[in-house]
Amino acid sequence: MAVDKEAFARIKKYCTDHEATLIAVSKTKPVSDIEEFYALGQLDYGENYVQELVDKQPVLPQDIRWHFIGHLQSNKVKYIALFVYLIHGVDSFKLLKEINKQGAKNDRVIDVLLQVFIANEETKFGLDEQELDALLHDATLPTLENVRIKGLMGMASFSDDEALVRSEFKKLKGLFDLAKQLDLPNVSMEVLSMGMSGDYEWAIGEGSNMIRIGSLLFGKRG
Ligand SMILES: *Cc1c(COP(=O)(O)O)cnc(C)c1O
Repeated sequence: MAVDKEAFARIKKYCTDHEATLIAVSKTKPVSDIEEFYALGQLDYGENYVQELVDKQPVLPQDIRWHFIGHLQSNKVKYIALFVYLIHGVDSFKLLKEINKQGAKNDRVIDVLLQVFIANEETKFGLDEQELDALLHDATLPTLENVRIKGLMGMASFSDDEALVRSEFKKLKGLFDLAKQLDLPNVSMEVLSMGMSGDYEWAIGEGSNMIRIGSLLFGKRG
């Protein structure tokens, strides 16, 4: 199936106009599809599965910025630690500590986003408000020198109820603004990753500065 270059041009312009970063979510899609968008200047790609990312990364241009947006298991961090650009789905201190450990092993600082649960569905991962607060105030967080918390990520309910979806994004923006006021050596709240194919305009309207778009660009996943 062909990639949608018109959708890409339209969404890319929308992002430029609203100072947001576009992540092209390429999970389950072939390397040849990524090459088509790369040729148009797209450098940021999102993947959900470690094995798939590990297979794609070596055969594609090395200046691609790989965003890991899926649920990452601690025992798999080591496979992506050397090259991953940003890990979006961090939802436990245990995972954060493992990313720090693998960052140290690879002599680098790994940037991450904390995933916050904002939807009213049971199926989505993420920290609740109290867990987010506890993690950010953990006394040992500043000792994790090989990890840097760059912002927050969230997924709204899968719904066409605009008021509901916007209220969930608004909540995450509120938490982001609060967290921004923290002064910790390895926290630098700059990125608010929210918005997908079905809700990215609402997300940007509510303050998102990074959207993750799959199906509008690559077509439906099988
Ligand atoms: C798959 C996925 C996306 C992209 O979803 P689309 O609806 O296809 O745009 C974005 N974010 C996460 C976390 C995903 O898993």
